[in-house]
Amino acid sequence: MNKNVLVIGGAGYIGSACVEELIKNEFNVFVLDNLSTGQVEKVNKKAQMIHGDILDMAVLENVFKDNEFETVIHFAGKKAVGESEEFPELYFENNVKGTLNILSMMSKYNVPKIIFSSTAAVYKPKDNENAIYTEDSEVEPINVYGRTKLMCELIIKDYQRLGKIKEYVIFRYFNVAGDTGLNYIEKNAQNVFPLLTNAILNGTEFKIFGDDYSTPDGSGVRDYIHLKDLVQAHVLGIGSVESGTYNLGTKNGFSVKELIQAFERITNKKMNVVIVEKRKGDPAIVIADSAKANNDLNWQAKSTLDDMVTSTLKAYGYVDDKLI
Ligand code: NAD
Repeated sequence: MNKNVLVIGGAGYIGSACVEELIKNEFNVFVLDNLSTGQVEKVNKKAQMIHGDILDMAVLENVFKDNEFETVIHFAGKKAVGESEEFPELYFENNVKGTLNILSMMSKYNVPKIIFSSTAAVYKPKDNENAIYTEDSEVEPINVYGRTKLMCELIIKDYQRLGKIKEYVIFRYFNVAGDTGLNYIEKNAQNVFPLLTNAILNGTEFKIFGDDYSTPDGSGVRDYIHLKDLVQAHVLGIGSVESGTYNLGTKNGFSVKELIQAFERITNKKMNVVIVEKRKGDPAIVIADSAKANNDLNWQAKSTLDDMVTSTLKAYGYVDDKLI
């Protein structure tokens, strides 16, 4: 098997961790990234780094013309829900047009397989009692970000159905957290783990958006998956022989208050917490059923919440009770 893999968005939080794992598994890795949010210093030196944009067809043409790839892993997306509602053009252009450009190059240069980063945001939010999502749950995104990902999924499926590419693996990530040892700190991070880390280490205020949801402690419950487990699924995805769409989560939910408790327990510090209004569109509980990935890809999330918390703290320089 040709082991050339093109990782688009490979300088990002998830992409750079995936590149590490691919190199460990002896793939020849090429990274294409415009470094809009990515960090070039986190890209393993064994990978061939190409600085370029998926909206630039000339760049893409050169990358695909000069190399024979077996698989493209496509992480290059904008991912901030709030920003997507404010600047929809940016999101449709970058996420949807960008994916279309990649697919047209794959088709032109006979690259058989794409692995695509999708999201739980494609699902229609459910009531509490049915808060577990399978891949067959109804899709109906409630924001532009989720819509762009669903559009990409549909385009990818059409390209496969029409024989323009051979195979796809679509991964719908739930809440990704933790660090794999690269100490990747996202700039302007809006995810809950970086916010909690800043709050516990720097004393910044942490906001709980609503504490009267019908959950055991009133705060929202989400399914958190360790970055380490997530990238493992991508390596397994390369070896799969059939197209498929897979949830990646743990089927375990943790509430925001449980996360706070874990950070406080592990650091033995108190967090400055305030309760504020619920955010529009935030469901009470979002949990993934990943049985399909378990069965078809032989994939299993192995890490615990404490693994996610300690690895994140370490990435921010906190080890054994102190900042280093
Ligand atoms: P990230 O912002 O760290 O990584 C995205 C990478 O793509 C960056 O390196 C960025 O520079 C690059 N990029 C963006 N637009 C590009 C373009 N036009 N051309 C070339 N490169 C471009 O984000 P991440 O957390 O690593 O997420 C990766 C993917 O996973 C995204 O598509 C995101 O939507 C999806 N996802 C992430 C999460 C999460 O919790 N982090 C959850 C669900 C889905």
